[in-house]
Amino acid sequence: MIEHDIIVVGGGLAGSRAAVAVAQKYPHLSIGMVSKVHPIRSHSIAAQGGMAAALGNVDANDDWLTHAFDTVKGSDYLADQNAVEILTKSARATIIDLEHMGVLFSRDGAGKIAQRPFGGHTNSRVCYAADKTGHAILHELVSGLIRYGTKLYQEWYVMQLIYEEGEVKGLVAYCIETGEVEVMRSKAVLFATGGYGRVFNTTSNDFASTGDGLCLTAIEGLPLQDMEFVQFHPTGLYPVGVLISEAVRGEGAYLINDLGDRFMANYPISANKMELAPRDITSRNIDREIRAGRGINGGSYVHLDVRHLGREKIISRIPFAREEGMRLLGIDCIDHPLPVRPTVHYSMGGIPTNIDCQAIGLDNHVISGFFAAGECACVSVHGANRLGANSLLECVVFGQRAGEKIAEYAIDRAMPNLNPTVYKDAATAKIKALLDRTGSTRISHLRQELQDLTTAHCGIYRDAANLSNGLEQIQLLKHRYEHDLHIDDRGTVFNLELTAALELQSLLTVGEIIMASALQRQESRGAHSRSDYPHRDDRNFLQHTLGYLKDREIKITSRPVDLSLTQVDLDRFTPQERKY
Ligand SMILES: Cc1cc2nc3c(=O)[nH]c(=O)nc-3n(C[C@H](O)[C@H](O)[C@H](O)COP(=O)(O)OP(=O)(O)OC[C@H]3O[C@@H](n4cnc5c(N)ncnc54)[C@H](O)[C@@H]3O)c2cc1C
Repeated sequence: MIEHDIIVVGGGLAGSRAAVAVAQKYPHLSIGMVSKVHPIRSHSIAAQGGMAAALGNVDANDDWLTHAFDTVKGSDYLADQNAVEILTKSARATIIDLEHMGVLFSRDGAGKIAQRPFGGHTNSRVCYAADKTGHAILHELVSGLIRYGTKLYQEWYVMQLIYEEGEVKGLVAYCIETGEVEVMRSKAVLFATGGYGRVFNTTSNDFASTGDGLCLTAIEGLPLQDMEFVQFHPTGLYPVGVLISEAVRGEGAYLINDLGDRFMANYPISANKMELAPRDITSRNIDREIRAGRGINGGSYVHLDVRHLGREKIISRIPFAREEGMRLLGIDCIDHPLPVRPTVHYSMGGIPTNIDCQAIGLDNHVISGFFAAGECACVSVHGANRLGANSLLECVVFGQRAGEKIAEYAIDRAMPNLNPTVYKDAATAKIKALLDRTGSTRISHLRQELQDLTTAHCGIYRDAANLSNGLEQIQLLKHRYEHDLHIDDRGTVFNLELTAALELQSLLTVGEIIMASALQRQESRGAHSRSDYPHRDDRNFLQHTLGYLKDREIKITSRPVDLSLTQVDLDRFTPQERKY
C-alpha cells in the first residue's frame, strides 16, 4: 500500500497550485500527485485567452466589487456570493504571485501587465500571455512540483475513491504503464480532475476530459451540484470544435452571418455588448442564426472575422488562433474569416464544496478527508454561466486555498484504518471482468452513440420530452456497456482500450446526471435554456441542484444559494433581469 499525508488527483492548474501551496507552507507533509496524463498535458495547458483580475491597468477605476458584480450577473445570480467575494478579492494578489513565480504576462506600452476586454466583464481586466496563458502558468506550477520534490504518479488512473464510515481514506489507482493496481492511503484527498467535455460530440476539451472525478464521487453516493449547466463556447472552429479563444473577440473580432450582418446587434439582449456579450447569450444567438438559415451558405456555422484588425495585431495578440485556423483548416485569418459554431467547453457544476474547498454532502455536512478544486468542483463562483477568464482565476485562487486548507486538516490527523486487500482485489476483479467481455459493441461506437445522444437531447436548447427520452436511451447504452462490450486488447501494459472503457463508465454516469438535473430544472437560467420553460423562475429555482445516485437510480434535491454579498451592496447584487 502506498501512503501519503495528502493525495492530490490531477496535475492541471488547480491540482498543481494546491500541491505547491502545501509544499511551500508545510514542507514536512508528504504529498502524492496522481494524474492519468503527465501534468503538463492536463487540459489547463490549452487555456488561451487569460485570467481576470481587477488590476486597473487599463481602466483605472476597476475594482474587485465590479468584478464580483459582473461574475454574479454573468452567473444569472446562481453563484454563491461568499465564494465570488473570495475569488475577486484575491485576484490581484494571485496575478502578482504568479508573476513572482516567473509567469511571463504580456505587457502594455508602459511595461505594466496588459489587460484585454472579455465577454461580460465591464472593464478590460483579463491578464494574458498572448493567447497561450494556460501554457505559461502551468509550466511554472509544474516546475514548482519538481522543485519541491512532489511525488508524481503520472499516467496512473484513479479507479475508486475509498469512502468508508463517512470519511475519505484514500483511493485505488492503476498504473497505465504496467497494469499494476495499488491502494493509496492518505489523511485527505483532493480531487482536481477537471471537466467532462467529452460527454458531448463537439467539444473544445481534450480527450482526457471525461469527468472521472465526478463519476467516482457520484458512485460513492455523494452529490454533484448544478450539473445541468454546461457551457457552450460560441466560437468552436467548424467542424472540429477546437476552441478559437474569446481573446479573439476581446481584440475586436466580428461575428457575421450569411447576409454579412454583425447579427449580435439584432438581439436586444446583446445589442450593447455585441460580440462581447457573455457566452450563453452569444452561443444562443449563433444557434438561432443557424436555425433561421442565416449560417454561411445556409450551413451550420457563422464567420468570425478579424481581417480589420490587421496583420501585426493578429500576429502579436492572437497568434495561436491564427495557427489553429491554418493547421486545422488551412485558413489564414489575416486574409479570410474563420468558420465557427458553439462547442461544449466548460462544466459549471461539479462536486459541491464550501469556501474552504471541503466537499459537502446532501445535508450540507462536510465530508471528512475530501476536498475538491478547479473545474471538477462547484464552489460555486460561476453559477449558471461562467464568464471567460474566471476559470483560470478560480483554479489558482481555490487551488491555493485547497492546498492550505487540506494541509491544515491533515497536519494533526492519524492515518485512517483501512483494509487494502479488499479494495485491491475488487479493483483487480473489475479490470479482469472488463477484459473478459466477449460482447459485440466496441468502446468507440458506444462512446460516439452516447456523445450524439447527449448533444441531441441536452444541447443548447432542452425540453422535457427530449430529456426524458434521452434518459431512457442512456439506460439502454448502460445496459450494453454492462453486457455487450467488446475489448480487443487483453494485455496489461499500456492498455489504452482498458482506460477508454473506464472513461466510458465516467461519461455514461456523468451524462445521465447532467440530463436528470436538466429535466428537473423547469426554468431557463444562464447556460440552461428550456424551450418549454423560457423564463427564469427565482421563486422556485434560485437554488443549487444536487443530483446523486441511490441504489443506482438518480435522485435530485437542492440547496440554497449564498446571497451574502447583498449585504454589502444591496441593490446591485439582488437578483434582477439580466441584460447587456
Ligand atoms: C481550449 C480551452 C481554452 C480555455 N481557455 C481559458 C481561458 O483563457 N481562461 C480561463 O479562465 N479558462 C479557460 N479555459 C478553462 C480552463 O482552462 C479549465 O477550466 C481549467 O484549466 C481546468 O483546470 P483543472 O486544474 O481543474 O483541470 P485540468 O487542467 O483539466 O486537469 C485535470 C487533471 O485531472 C487528471 N485526472 C482526471 N481524471 C483522472 C483519473 N481518473 N485518474 C488520474 N488523474 C485524473 C488529469 O490527468 C489532469 O491532470 C479553457 C478551456 C479550454 C478547454
